Amino acid sequence: MTIITRFAPSPTGSMHLGNARTALFNYLYAKHVGGKMLLRIEDTDKERSTEESINSIYNDLAWLGITWDSEPVIQSERVERHKEVVSTLLETGKAYKCYCTPEELKEMRETAVRNKLPPRYNRLWRDKVAGPEEENKSYCVRIKAPDEGSYIIHDSIKGDVEINCSELDDMILLRSDGSPVYQLAVVVDDHDMGVNYIIRGDDHLTNSFRQKMIYDALGWETPKYAHLPMIMGADGKKLSKRHGSCSVEDIKNDGILSEAICNYMLRLGFSEGEEILDREDAIKIFDISKVSSSPARFDSKKLENINGVYIRKTSDKDLLDLIKPKLIEKNFNFSEYGNRVKKLMSSLKERSSNLNHLVESSLFLDDEYFLYIENDSYMYRFTPEALKFIEKNKNDMEASLSSFLDSESYWETPDPDTIKECMEDISEEFEIKMRIIGQSIRVALTFSTMSPPISDVIAALGYSSSEKRLSIVHCIAAEV
Ligand code: GLU
Repeated sequence: MTIITRFAPSPTGSMHLGNARTALFNYLYAKHVGGKMLLRIEDTDKERSTEESINSIYNDLAWLGITWDSEPVIQSERVERHKEVVSTLLETGKAYKCYCTPEELKEMRETAVRNKLPPRYNRLWRDKVAGPEEENKSYCVRIKAPDEGSYIIHDSIKGDVEINCSELDDMILLRSDGSPVYQLAVVVDDHDMGVNYIIRGDDHLTNSFRQKMIYDALGWETPKYAHLPMIMGADGKKLSKRHGSCSVEDIKNDGILSEAICNYMLRLGFSEGEEILDREDAIKIFDISKVSSSPARFDSKKLENINGVYIRKTSDKDLLDLIKPKLIEKNFNFSEYGNRVKKLMSSLKERSSNLNHLVESSLFLDDEYFLYIENDSYMYRFTPEALKFIEKNKNDMEASLSSFLDSESYWETPDPDTIKECMEDISEEFEIKMRIIGQSIRVALTFSTMSPPISDVIAALGYSSSEKRLSIVHCIAAEV
């Protein structure tokens, strides 16, 4: 039998990471077993289901590299079919019309509470025949819930989960305004789409029992289930905005690569195989029954580490394409200095664990970016650490930069060994520590105290820009 899974998001803005992981697990499992994954947009809540929020589902899935089979099913387009199924249930006596008014229902609930019973519908119309006075009254349609025994769901992750039938009520299938309820729509759609394996968050576990009632009433086979434990924040509470990034959009804005978040999401519940698993390997080993039954904890440090690994695995060209829009957004003159970023990329990516950091550490390559004019003179915007360094080491810095400038033959065509040799000579002559010389040159070239190796920086900036920066900062050190 071909396994058919589905992802059924409700459009509510950028996808929560919990939903993104559900999509990923559906996708990986379907691929793993050579089955299919379908997509259904559950857009019956018209207020929240704007075109924009529907598009963000498509965009988020595309970014995550999660594809689906066949055309997406749009739930709101299937209302007539949902109603038709309710008619069948009425005809077969599995459902009935309930003419209770809202006031009667309220009274019923209050009486139940007074008698210390669950506030439920008392099945008044279950066996009652409508008389002429009901003729023009509005009604809703309710299912006849089983009244004895127990209901069991065989869950691939949680094992057998059982509830007593007394916990199920004669829930509404069709509201008095004629609109089908969500529980019904899900069952009818899943059945018609041929879905036979439902993988979703365990916040839907109680829904599964109610939906099973509908499958049984219709004589349809209940699909297999796998309910995924929630993703928690560091404090053990359900991951939400309070914890910081919790949607696909947030993660993207944090400079995380889609491969990295997918790898990390896989690790939220599935621990087989190596820590780093690319898509192909993940498909090979992913098995839904091996997903842990306890909640996973979101650890942003771990995600950042995994992201660093993927950044280093990504080609320099692809990284440049990825950060180009972010650089331009920061007014980096890409057409003029994009090439420098390209040259330095292999070195920059060794030091970056996210794309935003990669952007920040490339900005110094723009000759104008850190430049501003004050009192008719050009000034550089140093980082606070760099400024501190200049203030503390101005004499050594001045001497180091002046000598380094004089020894241009050592660094014109930059080579790490010759540059080191040059610095050793300066160190010997002026009795300045190698670390101070290196940092002086770094600060002059990059306006900060952290950067790739000096030889790589000079190679990326080129001789003329390097010389200019060294001279200007030399003057600044002399004037401080
Ligand atoms: N639309 C539901 C949600 O976004 C999922 C329904 C289901 O998977 O059955 O939570």
